[in-house]
Amino acid sequence: MSVISIAEFSASRYLADLRARSLRVRLDKGTLRVGPQEELTTADIVKIKKHKAELIDLLELEQGLPELRADGSLQIPFTCATRYHHWREDGQSLWTTLAELSAPLASWQRYGYEAADLLTDDHAARCKGAVNEGENFVYCPDCGRYQRRDA
Ligand SMILES: [Zn+2]
Repeated sequence: MSVISIAEFSASRYLADLRARSLRVRLDKGTLRVGPQEELTTADIVKIKKHKAELIDLLELEQGLPELRADGSLQIPFTCATRYHHWREDGQSLWTTLAELSAPLASWQRYGYEAADLLTDDHAARCKGAVNEGENFVYCPDCGRYQRRDA
């Protein structure tokens, strides 16, 4: 007889369960919405609160996520979470998305601005952004500047 381990919470199983009960589960500008509320049990509310982050991640995956193409260009599905829609007022900057994706130099060359002072006080004087390390380059997601580093 095999030992049956206690199943861990599975966001995808729970999401399917909610939908099977005809509940609507969606993201509204990054906020998780489940309804109608009167159909939710107390156990549901506890579960949803506890696993909110996992459920949001899963819904974002379903909607599609920004992807980098081989040439370094960024593809942002229209259906994906609106925070990735950098053209919207409530969207994050394209550079923040590049940083989240650990985009390569080719992407920064396409969308950023080359700078020579990222590691100096000049950058710190004009920008509060933190300088991040890429492969053979550094970049600042706040001002979109990047600087090559010779390997
Ligand atoms: Zn900066």
